[in-house]
Amino acid sequence: MQVSLLDLKGQYAQIKDEVLKEINQVCESQMFILGEKVEKLEKEIASYCECKYACGVSSGSDALIIALMAEGIGCGDEVITTPFSFFATAGAIVRVGATPVFVDIDPRVFNINADLIEEKITKKTKAIMPVHLFGQSADMGKIMEIANKHNLIVVEDAAQAIGSEYEGKRIGSLGHYGCFSFFPSKNLGAFGDGGIVTTNCEERFKKLKIFRNHGAEPKYYHKFVGGNFRLDALQAVILSVKLKHLDKWTTDRQKNAADYRAMFAKSKIGDKVLLPMKAEYRTRHIYNQFSLLVENGKRDFLKKALNDAKIGSDVYYPVPLHLQECFKELGYKKGDLPVSEETALKILSLPIYPESTVEQREYVVSTIEKALI
Ligand SMILES: *Cc1c(COP(=O)(O)O)cnc(C)c1O
Repeated sequence: MQVSLLDLKGQYAQIKDEVLKEINQVCESQMFILGEKVEKLEKEIASYCECKYACGVSSGSDALIIALMAEGIGCGDEVITTPFSFFATAGAIVRVGATPVFVDIDPRVFNINADLIEEKITKKTKAIMPVHLFGQSADMGKIMEIANKHNLIVVEDAAQAIGSEYEGKRIGSLGHYGCFSFFPSKNLGAFGDGGIVTTNCEERFKKLKIFRNHGAEPKYYHKFVGGNFRLDALQAVILSVKLKHLDKWTTDRQKNAADYRAMFAKSKIGDKVLLPMKAEYRTRHIYNQFSLLVENGKRDFLKKALNDAKIGSDVYYPVPLHLQECFKELGYKKGDLPVSEETALKILSLPIYPESTVEQREYVVSTIEKALI
């Protein structure tokens, strides 16, 4: 048997006819940049995320950058975030000229530890950028309370978490901005790059739309220096088709996670691996990833054993952001954020995509059992 970490071909087979029809319409219209198809998607995503507005952009990374730009965050400003995320989270902060201030994570939920945020707030702090890692909401209740108390902007990095909820509320609707990615491997993936920013504030929405088009309002009159952060119509129609299936795919991911939990519980693996934990607050985990913690020193060994058995797995993420070479000047050193550093050594993500089968999961768990027992 073979199990890929992610295989999008099964998903494509389900939607192929509809998608090709929509793509054909866009080709016939020859209207490729923004336009009514993008506006339609923006309304659909806003509604899906229980937000008033959504502004389609060129990628999840650009979604983060444009949100910071629209707030005027830049040189001399600090943004508090997690060191345990995809690079773009901190990359966006540095790209606008601001300084990321890293706060360690919760050891079992993998999101920023909200109890450690307040001690890192200074006069320069302008924003908090929590990440809903692997599809589970960060502790948004505490984060918003701190932000409101200190008058900070909250930019949610929701790239991995479309449809995820915190206490019954859709993520992306809780902070001032929600930044989503449509990278193909995300739960709602385009056929290329794409992203969207949600907000409940009309002023902010207007500003986002200006910034994504070189800061022009009206055309050729530039109030700000923005960029080309536009989403194209081909991606928008593909995403509109896929959005109709997203809840079904999410339910399948949740079922697959429940399968893994039952299979691990029945196995002899015991506490040689720790399963991803649900947060204490109520969440709707959408399982962009199902990530284990593997006992000390065995992670790379297990990854190789899985690879030898033709099972895909990957390490998200091997180097916490505060220890990345490009952030040397920030002055962090090994040991500064111990939970993130230990997690980076132990974590391993397994195949969880909707179309994967029970037999495949059984094979994954039995292979792990053989490797570790
Ligand atoms: C994927 C991702 C991004 C970047 O999104 P792109 O669309 O690839 O630019 C940002 N943050 C997180 C947490 C991500 O997983």
